[in-house]
Amino acid sequence: MTSVLELPAAVTVRAPAKVNLELFVGPLLDDGYHSLSTVYQAVGIHDDVTAAPSDEWGCSVRGRDADKVPTDESNLALRAARALAEHTGGQDPVHLSIHKEIPVAGGMAGGSADAAAALVACDALWGTDLPKEELEEIAAGIGSDVPFLLHGGTCVGSGRGEVVTPVLAKGTYHWVFVPSAASGLSTPMVYSAFDQRLAGTAIPEPRPSTALMSALRSGDPTALAPVLDNDLQADAIALQPAIGELIEAAMGFGALAAIVSGSGPTVAMLASGAEGAIDLAVALTASGVAGDVLRATGPTHGAHILPTVRAS
Ligand code: ATP
Repeated sequence: MTSVLELPAAVTVRAPAKVNLELFVGPLLDDGYHSLSTVYQAVGIHDDVTAAPSDEWGCSVRGRDADKVPTDESNLALRAARALAEHTGGQDPVHLSIHKEIPVAGGMAGGSADAAAALVACDALWGTDLPKEELEEIAAGIGSDVPFLLHGGTCVGSGRGEVVTPVLAKGTYHWVFVPSAASGLSTPMVYSAFDQRLAGTAIPEPRPSTALMSALRSGDPTALAPVLDNDLQADAIALQPAIGELIEAAMGFGALAAIVSGSGPTVAMLASGAEGAIDLAVALTASGVAGDVLRATGPTHGAHILPTVRAS
């Protein structure tokens, strides 16, 4: 049994962003969600969440896009902490300090990353020490991407994306992300454009493609590039043509592939290697095509405890 004295004073957990290497959208389900078949990859752009005991429940946010993140009960990290407390029969309140690096509302699952981080942080802080399967169950109740962000690596996501299965993937991939190709593109807007475009069509149950699986086993970015796929890309571009222009520019600057990440608007560009990624990022900024460019490699770890609190 864990004694109170052994519990930490505060716990900081780091969680990654994700890119969807493949996103196939299935039929609309009765609950208003679509079934999905996706292949997630965790990439090295991170949010850190520190959980510390407090007199009342709350959260604060700093870092990138902090002003766009709610600090009330709708914050996904706070919702996750509350859900864990309820699941374990009630816990003392915590304050969550969130340091954001993941672009907000960019299709990179930043809010879900914070929720995954909060679950791991509070589980350690409270000493609840839940089995992985139980944490994943609570995670799925918060959002479809949250179980993957606990897991990390490269995984197939089925159901609504919340049922995650690791994929055999070799190598490290070098990515360039441009988060701000367009603003005002929300996940519901993109799905509703998809629904309108395919109204009256029988949409088959989606499955992972064997071509993507074998490309990932090869570890070769030139094999992965032509099989990256996203059913929502056409709809995101129809709503925000700037996304299509950015994809074309990236290909002109030597990207192996450029795709919309999730429901966008972030564009994920696959480079040939570390140098290729630097060249691509420089070309995008020097030409004025993109002001805000992020580089990251994948796959990387899911939500994990950091030994010390980040200073800045
Ligand atoms: P997804 O790829 O899962 O659709 P996203 O990356 O497009 O997500 P998020 O950054 O997760 O988008 O934010 C979506 C919305 O969630 C934001 O507009 C914000 O108001 C809300 N939100 C709630 N909690 C958080 C959080 N901790 N971090 C970021 N956004 C949050």
